Amino acid sequence: MSLVLVINSGSSSLKYQVVDPVDGRWLARGLVERIGQEGSLIRHEAAGADPLERDVPLADHAEALESVLALLDEHGPGLDRLVAVGHRVVHGGSEYREPAIVDDEVEDAIARLVPLAPLHNPAALVGLRDMRRLLPSVPQVAVFDTAFHAGMPAEAYTYALPVDVARAHRLRKYGFHGTSYAYVTRRAAGFLGVAPDRVRLIICHLGNGASMAAVRDGVGIDTSMGLTPLQGLVMGTRSGDVDPAVVFHLMRAAGLGLDDVDALLNKQSGLKGLAGDQDMREVRRRANDGDQAARLALDVYAYRVRAYIGAYLAVLPGVQALVFTAGIGENDAALRQDVCDPLRHLGIALDTKRNAEPSRVERAVDDGTGPIRVLVIPTDEEAEIARQAMVAVAGDTP
Ligand code: ADP
Repeated sequence: MSLVLVINSGSSSLKYQVVDPVDGRWLARGLVERIGQEGSLIRHEAAGADPLERDVPLADHAEALESVLALLDEHGPGLDRLVAVGHRVVHGGSEYREPAIVDDEVEDAIARLVPLAPLHNPAALVGLRDMRRLLPSVPQVAVFDTAFHAGMPAEAYTYALPVDVARAHRLRKYGFHGTSYAYVTRRAAGFLGVAPDRVRLIICHLGNGASMAAVRDGVGIDTSMGLTPLQGLVMGTRSGDVDPAVVFHLMRAAGLGLDDVDALLNKQSGLKGLAGDQDMREVRRRANDGDQAARLALDVYAYRVRAYIGAYLAVLPGVQALVFTAGIGENDAALRQDVCDPLRHLGIALDTKRNAEPSRVERAVDDGTGPIRVLVIPTDEEAEIARQAMVAVAGDTP
């Protein structure tokens, strides 16, 4: 059996999984936290065994990855069956439509894209470079979050800015969560019994970060995130869409600096800004207890999702299904109901009882009367990265 090690490298943390790329099953997984800080820690779990926790000083990502490899060696499944390491890379710009086997050129390209993803790409780059050194005989594959959206038409990705400025600074809509969209599109096509290159979907990826995508014949043709993941829906701590003049106003009238406004829109807004809490479960609990701010936050959240559904229905004829995924999309039945109930006139008819049943499996939650199905498809970004990495090294579908 061939296995793929999937690495998702953050600035001070690192998630990993060893995955069978054929069925997406994980054999080992873990999380390294507080890399380069006091109290660094590894939580490791091998399938079928008790999880273990190690407090080990880890000065940097290289030491963290070395410890992860040692744990995999010691507790299984070992390193000898690894045929690829798949790295999640947030920004692939407009260059990368497919996963790339990493060489010096790919590394340089990811480095050149750092200005577009200053929080994410540097961490991925560190993980890539360290892994190439630690496992030189195993191909490293970069899987880009933007790639799914690389087929968007120019009319969807172009901002109405001066052409020369936009070109010089690479200002356009890129979109993110692409690995999740790729996975969910394939699974939804299978569920519906439609060929993947014929499937037409509106997908709502509603997690801590949240976005939507319109998928025509398997290709992403529009998405709610933009140059960065700040645009679009209400998120845990991000505002999503606001009038860009909010920025000038806060700087001129409120005297905030650029970094303050950046932090305000990215870290202090969204559910947190509206209701004081970024966790949807907590916001919903408080709304149920009669908290007005929490109620308004939920209403704004659902309204924004509905407005994007309307927009995508207008640009995508023949939608076969509306699909919910990620933490909120998969688990929050009340949110799905708030979004769908007012959309019956558009052919989206939820079955209230079916929708409310808790489940972890792929399922339809519509009542079967409308032309547009409503699906819940649990996402699995690690399985998708493993599959794409395998395809990249094998040059074929596993
Ligand atoms: P990330 O973007 O960090 O991967 P997730 O996809 O795990 O995020 O989603 C996290 C969000 O999902 C949180 O807002 C959390 O409150 C929400 N969530 C998880 N389970 C439930 C649930 N049962 N009901 C409502 N929201 C939930």
